[in-house]
Amino acid sequence: MDAAEFRRRGKEMVDFVADYQENIEHRRVYPDVEPGYLRSMIPSEAPLEPESYEDVLRDVDRVIMPGVTHWLSPHFYAYYANSTSFPSILADLLSSGIGTIGFTWAANPACSELETVMLDWLGKMLQLPEDFLSETQGQGGGVIQGTASEATLMALLSARLKTVKCVQESDPQRSEADIISKLIAYTSEEAHSSVEKASIIGGVVIRMVPTDEHFSVRAETLEKMVAEDKATGYIPFFFCATLGTTPCCAFDKIDELGPICNAENIWMHIDAAYAGCAFICPEFRPLLNGVEFADSFSINPNKFLLVGFDCSAMWVKKSADLTRAFQMDPEYLKHEHQGSGLVKDYMHWGIPMARRFRSLKLWFVFRMYGLRGLQAFIRKHVELAKTFENLVRGDNNFEICAEVVMGLVCFRLKGSDELNKALLKQITRTGKIYLVPCKLRGRFVLRFVVCGRTTELRHIQEAWKHITELSSELLQNLFDHEGKEN
Ligand code: PLP
Repeated sequence: MDAAEFRRRGKEMVDFVADYQENIEHRRVYPDVEPGYLRSMIPSEAPLEPESYEDVLRDVDRVIMPGVTHWLSPHFYAYYANSTSFPSILADLLSSGIGTIGFTWAANPACSELETVMLDWLGKMLQLPEDFLSETQGQGGGVIQGTASEATLMALLSARLKTVKCVQESDPQRSEADIISKLIAYTSEEAHSSVEKASIIGGVVIRMVPTDEHFSVRAETLEKMVAEDKATGYIPFFFCATLGTTPCCAFDKIDELGPICNAENIWMHIDAAYAGCAFICPEFRPLLNGVEFADSFSINPNKFLLVGFDCSAMWVKKSADLTRAFQMDPEYLKHEHQGSGLVKDYMHWGIPMARRFRSLKLWFVFRMYGLRGLQAFIRKHVELAKTFENLVRGDNNFEICAEVVMGLVCFRLKGSDELNKALLKQITRTGKIYLVPCKLRGRFVLRFVVCGRTTELRHIQEAWKHITELSSELLQNLFDHEGKEN
């Protein structure tokens, strides 16, 4: 493909994507395919000779589209959203087109510098303490990680090294392996599975902290566990708080947990992957009070800020804690500006060396929506979720299972888990809307997350009508069945 053809095909592809998104609501949101569907539709080996672009594109419709779960559909209510937007898609195209890889400042000065400034912009939108910003020329700063899971892992590994060094300072004879075997991390029983995964990768023990009636971790519970563990020779070193848990969007009380972590030399990382984005709205910002006690904090703009995947913003108070843990310095990566206060070599801030120009997505989206536009987007989702909550509350067959704070509503049919599983199965089978479940206090619960950029009131009303029609059928069948048995 030469530049002339790329020009033509590129325009066609933009049309293809625009048409796809404009008409997405007419597609079945959850695909009707069986596992292994794709293999039989394409050859078992790559072609020896080049094929035409037309043939490739034809197969996108024939092979790919039937197996796509349409995350951008207004009928998609699962997980937490992927909230991309057209400016973000264009920025991604530009990033691919420039094709530059920014691991050090020298490898791509614009990539490194825009990332630093965008994380400051976003940090200020969130009213983060100055300690987390780069512009103050202090020790803190922000970085874009691929995912929240990576941010948590980075925090845990950095905390591990910091603690090992600290223990060895007072006890130089103690081996690293011995110290690591005694390290203990904590997180909420409601935390995302990526926290436990980070502990497995980091080779440390983790304890799940029980939550209160609002699914929040409280200070006294953590304090008690830390005291117990210290008494048996463990070294508490890491606590991952969650703001906006995955099952029900609950918030740990970081303003009371932070002081304990600080007093006990425990690194506090805050995982606010979804809900953290909403802290750009002043009415939600109080939930972040206590961030000043944290060592690191991360949110996923790709979940709730109209930025496409992948983009997880992470801030640390002392960037040296990260870079010291991961600094490698081979000759081929050295450059003349290394070590200057103005220069960030982001390869030392994360696991991969190579990095895409992801800050372009933030820059395009922030400029084209403005803070006001982003706030309006978040508020609209929250309002739609409240509407759905009211619809659920108005139906005596259903119950709300957790407080609705942002765009997530946890609900269930009053009755057994089996009944609710049957309802979800019917919802998935019909493919009109897509939800996933969670477990709350051992009960099977349905999660309804307002996700789409284009989700409107009518979609919420249609979704509720669909759910109640399916549930009425189920309840009628149950009633008939029980009637027969009696
Ligand atoms: N943390 C929380 C609270 C989440 O809700 C999720 C995913 O929904 C994650 C972490 C994982 O995010 P990622 O896929 O960016 O690793």
